[in-house]
Parts: sequence; C-alpha cells; structure tokens
Amino acid sequence: MQWLSASMPVLALAAIYLAAGKFGLRFTSLNPSASAVWPPTGIALVALLWRGVGLWPGVFIGAFLVNILTTGNWVTSLFIATGNTLEAVCGAWLMQRYTGGLRAFERSGTFLSFVVFAAMGSTTISADIGVTTLCLGGLAPWIQFGPIWLTWWLGDMVSDLVIAPMLIIWFSRPFPELSIKRLIEGLGLLFAISVVGQLVFLSGLPFAPRNYPLSYLAVPPLIWAAFRLGTRGAISAAFLMTALAIWGTLGHRGPFAGNEPNESLILVQVFASTIALTALTLALIVSDRRRAEAALQGSQAQLHGIISSATDAIISINAHQQVVMFNEAAEKLFDVAAKDALGQNIDRFIPERFRTAHVHHVEGFGKTGTTTRRMGALGSLTARRADGQEFPIEASISQVYVRGEKIFTVILRDVTERVKAEAERKEFQAMLERTVAERTARLQEMVAELEHFSYAIVHDLRAPLRAMQGFAQLILNEDTPQLTPELEEFLRRIKSSANRMDNLITDALSYSMAVRERLPLGPVELGDLVKGIVDSYPNLQPPRAEIRIIGTLPVVIGNRAALTQCFSNLLGNAVKFTPPDISPKVRVFAETRNGQNDGSSAGQPNSERVRIWIEDNGIGIAEKWQQRIFGMFQRAHSGYEGTGIGLALVRKVVEHMGGEVGVESEVGKGSRFWVDLRAP
Ligand code: ADP
Repeated sequence: MQWLSASMPVLALAAIYLAAGKFGLRFTSLNPSASAVWPPTGIALVALLWRGVGLWPGVFIGAFLVNILTTGNWVTSLFIATGNTLEAVCGAWLMQRYTGGLRAFERSGTFLSFVVFAAMGSTTISADIGVTTLCLGGLAPWIQFGPIWLTWWLGDMVSDLVIAPMLIIWFSRPFPELSIKRLIEGLGLLFAISVVGQLVFLSGLPFAPRNYPLSYLAVPPLIWAAFRLGTRGAISAAFLMTALAIWGTLGHRGPFAGNEPNESLILVQVFASTIALTALTLALIVSDRRRAEAALQGSQAQLHGIISSATDAIISINAHQQVVMFNEAAEKLFDVAAKDALGQNIDRFIPERFRTAHVHHVEGFGKTGTTTRRMGALGSLTARRADGQEFPIEASISQVYVRGEKIFTVILRDVTERVKAEAERKEFQAMLERTVAERTARLQEMVAELEHFSYAIVHDLRAPLRAMQGFAQLILNEDTPQLTPELEEFLRRIKSSANRMDNLITDALSYSMAVRERLPLGPVELGDLVKGIVDSYPNLQPPRAEIRIIGTLPVVIGNRAALTQCFSNLLGNAVKFTPPDISPKVRVFAETRNGQNDGSSAGQPNSERVRIWIEDNGIGIAEKWQQRIFGMFQRAHSGYEGTGIGLALVRKVVEHMGGEVGVESEVGKGSRFWVDLRAP
C-alpha cells in the first residue's frame, strides 16, 4: 500500500508524459518519432524541479510508452526513453545548480542561464541519443540525421522555453490580487493577441495577398504584456501566440505555411522560441528595474529618515556653494527654515571674515580626492546664525558625485557649551596652580626662616658650651684644695654633658647642612674614600678594630664629602656597637645588582647600580628597630654613646644622590648595612 502511494507521483508523471507525448506526436512529419512540438520536455523538467530528480522513473516510463506505442520497437524505445530521461535530469540539475531552481524566472540573469543550460543545452542530449537510435535502428536514414536532429532539438527547446516557464510562473507563485483595472487590461491584451493571431496566422489580412510575412506584428502585444502585466502576462501572451502560429501553420495558413511541412514547423519553432525569449527577457528586465527602483526608494527613504532625525545639522552644497540640502537640525541651529536656505549661498552661515578662507578650504578638499575629512583641524570653526550671532562648531565634510555634479556635505554641531566648559576648566586649573604656587612659596619661606632660626640657635649654643667645657676643665686642672672628690665628680659630669651636647650640635648641624644644600655630584672612587676614612681614625685601626676591604670597591656617582660622612658614620657604628669582650671585625665589599658578590670585577660594574655592604660582628639589631634607626634621634641600644642622628643623615644624603640604604641583622649575630648607589 505504502509502495503504491510512494509510486503514485511517478505513475502520474508517466501518465501525463504519455498523454502530452501522444499530443506532440501529432506534429510529426519527417519521422514518426521526431515531433516538432514536444510538450513532455517542459513538463518533465518542471516535475523534476518541483518534486526532485528522484521522480525520473516517471519520465522514463512515460517516454518508453509513447515510443513503443508509436514504433513498436522495444530496443529503440528504451534508448529514446533513456535520452528523454537524461535530458530532464540534466536540465533539472543544471537549473538547481545555476539558476536557483524554480526561481529561474524571477531575474533576467538567471533566466538567461536557464536558456543556455537547460533550454539549449540539456535538450541536445535527447536529440543526440534519439536521432542516433532512429538511424541505428533503421527507423530513419542516416542522410536525414541533420534535419531530424534539428526538428527534435527545436521541439524540445520550444517546450522548455514556453511550457516550463508557463507552468512555473503560473503555479509556483501565489496568484496576484486581481483588480478590475488589471482584469480589463488582461482582456484587452487577450483581444489584441486574438486579433493579431487571427490576422497574421489564421485568416490573413483582408486587403493583402495571402501569406504576407507579417509575423513581426506579433511583437507589439508581447511588448505590451511584458511592460504592463509582468512575467505572467508575457509568458501567457507568448504561449497563446505560439499556439495560434502552430495552429495556423498546421492548417497551411499564415506566413510560415507554404513551405515543405517540416520546414514550416521549424520556422514556427524558431518563431516561438524567439518570442518567448524576447517577451520573458523584457518582462524580467522591467521587473529587475522595478525591484531596483523599489530598493532605491527604500534606501532613499531610510537616508531621509536618518538625515531628518539626526541631532547634528547636515547641509549639502553644490560646487557653486549653493545649499542643496538642509535638515531639521540645521533649521534649528541656524534659525532658518529649509525652504529659505535652499538655493542660497552657504556664505550666509559663515562669518564674513572667514568666507574667503572657507571657499579655499572646500575647493582644496575637493581636489584631494579623499571622501571625508574632519574640518577645522588647524583651529576652531565658527558659524553664523540668521540673526548674525556667531557660535563655535565642530564639523566634518564629505564629497560625492551626484549625477555628474560634485556635492559637499557638512555635518556640524554647536560646541558652545563644550568650549565654555573647557574655558572654565582651564581657568579653574590656572587658579589652582596659582594658589598652589603661592602656598608653596609661603611654605618655603617659612621653612627657610625656621632653618635659619634653628641653625642660628644651634650655632649660638656652641659658645656657652665651650665656656662650660673650658671652665670645668680649668677647675679640674687647677690643684684646688676646696675640690672634694664629690665636687670633682660633679665637674666631670658637667664636662661630659657639655661634650655630649657638643656632639649633638655637631651632628645636628651637619644634618641640617646636608638637608639644605644641593650636593654637587660626580664620580667618586669608593676604595680610596674608605681607605682614607680608616687611615684618619685610629679607633678604626688595629688593635682597636680590624676593617677589611674585600675585592675592589667601585666608582660611584655621589658627593665626596657627603659620602665620607656617610661611610664614617657606618664604619663608626660597626665598630662602636660591639660587645666589650669582642674585637670588632668589619668587612666592606661591593656587589653588582644581579646579586653576585663580585670580588675582583667590582671595580667595573656592568650594571647601572652598585650595592656596598658593611658587615660587622657586633651586637645586631632587633627586627622591629631595623627600619626605625634611620629616623632622627632613633636609638636601639642604650649604654652606647651617640646622638641618634648619624643614620638619619646617611639616609638623607644617600637619597639625595639617588640611592637607597638598608640593613639586614639578627640580634647577637652582627649587622650588614647596605648602600645602593649609581654607577657612572
Ligand atoms: P648613634 O650611633 O649616634 O646612636 P645612629 O643614627 O648612627 O645613632 O644609629 C642609630 C641606632 O642604630 C644606634 O643607636 C644603634 O642602636 C643602632 N645601630 C646603628 N649601627 C649599628 C650597628 N652597626 N650595630 C648595631 N646597632 C647599630
């Protein structure tokens, strides 16, 4: 049952093919198998396109039956049926591949592909196989091969050109809504075709001799159909005209009659294919143009929508500087109605003093050949309202050719608010900078005063101190009987306090000097410098202490005096902060920044920075103190003399020279101070 329903379309096609073929075989003359009108070709093509090439057995069965019923020859019928089937399958495949299948008759391009591939191409297969079979099978003499082939091929081609489009156009698309006007026009066309058909192909002109070659009279109704009634009208008109022509010719009437019958039929076929081709091509070109027009209108409407809804003003001018387009935003911005602006010179929207420059700019831009550009790249732009008021704008310009004329379009916006905001911002910034500068100057003044004051105090403190130290020493030196041991102890304490104070003052002075002065920097040989320090302080030398320089110390960028102060402090501390029972041992060495203890190569460090280590075997520093000791008056250990200024000075000076200082230490295991400095 299922098999039956599946094979129904095949059988239906076979039946239709058979019927159409039987009808076609009425138009044979040269050979009973080669018909001049062969409707099955067009029908088979449409069927395979519509339901798929899988339907080919329908074509084969139909074609076989037509032939066997005509000739009774099994073998030739099988071959001819094969040719017919191949023709339909190839035609359908080519159309699917190159013309969009059933959509071949929607555009002129695909229609012409259809004509070449399917109508003219695939039909040669059937003619080749068919006529060769007839000749081989003895059903036609070889001498007739050419004329029979031509009849066969033309019959199939006309079928593809007339029947296939007719079926596809009428049945694969929804029927258009039929208006009265269209209906009347359609009937008028039908009437015109009947009259022309009657006059040209059937009765002949009443006043002219019979068989006057008036076939070209068929063209005007076809043009009418193509222009006014689309592809449906065109193919229908061509179909009707073809039918009338064949009918007339078969009845030995009209311009094609009067020749030998096969010749007449060939002439009709040529006529039919020409008018079908012409009518359809014309109709498709018309519809292509309508489609293009509709697309153009659509994009014009879209463009119009964009232009009129744009918030920026859009103005187009021609090469004579006349306004040709002025959108709503431009109307608002310039306070002019579009109708008053159109045709006017653009000058009225530009302040007088800029007009000449503007014309030059636009001309210059016209010559560049670039399509768009931001305007006013060299400065701000100014526009002018209808009332003469000027305002700053930002604009871009573009150029295109419209119908041979150059059109410039400027898109612009009012930037008054932005310019104002920018000016306010600049003013505010300037004010801020002024205030900051004033405050800084005041602060610097205050700091200078304070420094001067402290320097003076520190300096002046020294005089009374010296007096205290001097007089205390004087009394101690005198052999005074009243000087009891107790008083002597008091005097010693006065003296030692005065000494401590003196040290404090010295340190504080050098610190304040280091802070105040801009240190001149230059290359300093650290090896010499450290040796010099050790040589000038006995307590840095054996037996009191042992200071060893490991390897060579590098040349650094710094200030000699300041570095001497720094390394004196560091070496002094290294020796000072040792337990009483241990003899201080200090190692000084350099390291390149990649962390290698560089030994001999330290003299020529290949990196930009060098690190100098001062390593002692002293009492060490608890972790919590390791950062603090570089601050003023910070001392981690009591019971050792000192002011707590030395390391603060070291840090200050090293930072001045673009370096850094730090310490690694563990209580009881000695300390390693490091100083990073720039290498030349
Ligand atoms: P001063 O040496 O006058 O006390 P500094 O600023 O030179 O002041 O040092 C601050 C403190 O850092 C010292 O009091 C000491 O506690 C600690 N310190 C400095 N160098 C060392 C060192 N090599 N070993 C242990 N402690 C140190």
